[in-house]
Amino acid sequence: MTSPGETPTRPCIRGCMVPDAHFSKCPSFGQSKDTSCKGCVPSAAREGVLVCERCYRSIRRLIDDAPDVIAHLRSIADPTKARVYDRVMVQSSKPEYPAPVDANVLDASNDIAVTLRNWADRVASPDDDVFDRHLQAGIDAAAAHDDIRACADVILDGLDAIANDKRQVLALADALLTRSTTTHPDFWTVADVASRWPIDDAPRWAEAPCPACDLMTVRVMPSRRRGGRTRYVCRECEWEADDLDDGGLWAIAFAESVPAVPA
Ligand SMILES: [Zn+2]
Ligand SMILES: [Zn+2]
Ligand SMILES: [Zn+2]
Repeated sequence: MTSPGETPTRPCIRGCMVPDAHFSKCPSFGQSKDTSCKGCVPSAAREGVLVCERCYRSIRRLIDDAPDVIAHLRSIADPTKARVYDRVMVQSSKPEYPAPVDANVLDASNDIAVTLRNWADRVASPDDDVFDRHLQAGIDAAAAHDDIRACADVILDGLDAIANDKRQVLALADALLTRSTTTHPDFWTVADVASRWPIDDAPRWAEAPCPACDLMTVRVMPSRRRGGRTRYVCRECEWEADDLDDGGLWAIAFAESVPAVPA
């Protein structure tokens, strides 16, 4: 942990800054709100890897979410309900034709599959050349999910090694986290897709304060996969837990409606 105004000896190699922390020479130093600088003190790298805690967790989460994200896209693109009109959305005048699929959905699901398959191949056989393995046309949601889940598990196993390799971790973070500024990116990252086609089970604000900073800033993020873990993440400090941590304590603390506790 770095105290505000101090440069960490190992900053995050993605160049992250601690939100709202400033050096004393910064015009925003000592200002409380609405400052022009969002933070100028570099974030420290997480123990044992080259990126900060926030980057590391985001990378891990997006890998873990990728199977559900791709299944969601494939269900939107269900070939039994839809037709693709090459890059152009054309409303058919013939009522027996199902609605066309937005070509973005197909591009996005292919990009995610290529990303996850590429990285799984790199982890599994580091000495071999990696070739783009595209998503099979018309693959259904369940098959796409299982395929990408297997890739995600391989990558998660190798994540600490990747996160210790400058070139690799920057490339992986770019493929997952980087947000395109357009609504039709040339390449869809997992973060682009998750934002464009959000999955149900939306996160909500917890009704109890963060155990670390005591603010009402904990997001409850239900798992997007059946039987998966619900995560609790404070937006103000770095506290994070899931519903199995500490004997399931947080699942109770952040349950939808907290029962009144007798004084
Ligand atoms: Zn600053
Ligand atoms: Zn970072
Ligand atoms: Zn907190």
